[in-house]
Amino acid sequence: MENRKRIILFVIIISLILLGTGIGLGTFFGINKPTRLFIAIHCEPGSFPATTDYPEQYWFNLLQMISQADQNDVKLNLLFNPQWGSYILQNTTRFSLVRSWESNGHEIGLHVHGPNQGSWCGYTNQAAFASDPKYLGTIAEMMVIMNQLPAFGQILTTCSATDEDIIFDYPVGVLFRTSGGSEKMNHLWSKPTTETFTGQSTAGFNHARYGNIQSDINKTLTNSSNYTKSAIMNMLWD
Ligand SMILES: [Zn+2]
Repeated sequence: MENRKRIILFVIIISLILLGTGIGLGTFFGINKPTRLFIAIHCEPGSFPATTDYPEQYWFNLLQMISQADQNDVKLNLLFNPQWGSYILQNTTRFSLVRSWESNGHEIGLHVHGPNQGSWCGYTNQAAFASDPKYLGTIAEMMVIMNQLPAFGQILTTCSATDEDIIFDYPVGVLFRTSGGSEKMNHLWSKPTTETFTGQSTAGFNHARYGNIQSDINKTLTNSSNYTKSAIMNMLWD
C-alpha cells in the first residue's frame, strides 16, 4: 500500500515536471505567443504641403476606418504626415478625438515624405532644399507640431522616407522605424534590427503593402507553418 502511494505521488510529480517543462519550452519557442501585428495606416501629405487640403478631404474616411477598427477590436498604428498634425491641432474637437483614439489603444505616430520622395511634406534638414517653394521648415520644427499629438509628448514610431533623406532627417527621440513595401510577402514578417540615423539608434522593421499581398495573405494566415511568432507581422495601408 505504501509502495502504491509512493508510485502515485511519483507519477503526479513527474507529470507536474513534464507539464511545467512543456509550458516553459512552449513559451521559449514561441508556440504560445500571440501573433504580433502592426497595422500601419499612412496619412499622406497631398500635393500642396503648405495647405491642409489633403487631410480635410480624407478626414471622414479616417473616421470611418477607425470606427470599423473599433467595432472589430483592431488597434491601428496611425502614421501622420505633418499636414495632418496641423489639421488636427487647428480644432479642439478634432484634437480631443485623436487623443481618445490613443487612449483606446491606437498609436499616434509619424509619416514623413522627404524631398527625394513624391509629394514632399515640406520639412527637411537638407540645406539644398531650403530655397524650394515647398519648403516649410526643419525636422525639429516639424516635431514641435507633431509631438503635440500624443499624450506622452513624444512620437515613438515613424515611417520616414527615403533612405537618401533619412540620413539627414531622422527625427529626435523616435524609437521605431518601419520601412519597406517594395517586396511582397518578404516584407510581411520581420524582427527588429538596430539602425542608426543622425547619431540615434532605432529599432527598424519592415512592412508589406496590403494592396500587394491581398491575394496571398489568406493562404499565409491559414498555414501556421508560415508564422514566425517571434517576428512582427506588419501590413501597410496607404
Ligand atoms: Zn506615404
